[in-house]
Amino acid sequence: SVMPALLSAISTGARNGVLMKGGMYLEQLSKANAIAFDKTGTITKGQPEVTDSILTDKRASDEIFAAVAAVEHQSNHPLAKAIFKFCQKETEKQLPEVLTIEDVTGYGVQAEIASDKWLLGSIAFMKRSNIVGYPSDWKAWERNRQEEGKTIVYAAVNDEVVGAFAIKDQIRKDAKETLRELQKAGVKTIMITGDHEATAASIAKEAGVDDWISESLPEQKVEEVVRLKKKYGSVIMVGDGVNDAPALAKADIGIAMGSGTDVAIDTADLVLMKSELDKIRLSLRLSKRMNRIVK
Ligand code: ADP
Ligand code: MG
Repeated sequence: SVMPALLSAISTGARNGVLMKGGMYLEQLSKANAIAFDKTGTITKGQPEVTDSILTDKRASDEIFAAVAAVEHQSNHPLAKAIFKFCQKETEKQLPEVLTIEDVTGYGVQAEIASDKWLLGSIAFMKRSNIVGYPSDWKAWERNRQEEGKTIVYAAVNDEVVGAFAIKDQIRKDAKETLRELQKAGVKTIMITGDHEATAASIAKEAGVDDWISESLPEQKVEEVVRLKKKYGSVIMVGDGVNDAPALAKADIGIAMGSGTDVAIDTADLVLMKSELDKIRLSLRLSKRMNRIVK
């Protein structure tokens, strides 16, 4: 009958670090035709590290590092800590006072230091903020790092780009195998990220997803889930960030990483307590077995 099969599946899940918020989701899981993954913190470990930087000589490097460190010290973005750590090591200067700071969701942060306006964020953020000055000889530096799957964050002061930081985040060790197994089970795998196309393509190929969507703003992640539902039918979304929560809610089943933000965990139907992606396969197996018994 239904109840014992359901309870047994839920408790097996719990013993394996899969928290299920109801039996309904368990039943739905094995019906999914596609599964969408966020990149940072989901396919990757979410432990970004700055590998290197490039600066113009418009400002003293000491001053750039100190200002960027001061701004990122105030930001909660996953990339902020890595940039702060790197910049703090590169400067002997005391960090300047940040007068105002403002998050521009999906793009970056904007801050005032003395009479300067600083912007930190993606190239899309720079373009949208009408940054005029941009070093033309950085192309090879950027391209090489993006091909290694690195995220580039730009720093601009008063409408001029003065620095860029390359940030590496490793792919989770169970990502490749999980993706391969999902594909073998006939489930389409898609990665959705706000990152630049070249960086996204590199990570997508390394992890082995079927398809990927890059440069997706937080609200566009929801639209992508809607589109995937139309295309494939039942869709699972896996994510960790504040930005992923609406997409987790919109998917037929939302799965949050245990290492994720509270809002992602609260919104999701299933939580991978230890952030192990291979537990998705276990959950699908439990679902299949339960549906077989119930029928
Ligand atoms: P994703 O969807 O890839 O998880 P987000 O939507 O959180 O990423 O952020 C998109 C981009 O905005 C980042 O890749 C980064 O370039 C930029 N960004 C946002 N906040 C910051 C910050 N505090 N410092 C540097 N860059 C930032
Ligand atoms: Mg994320």
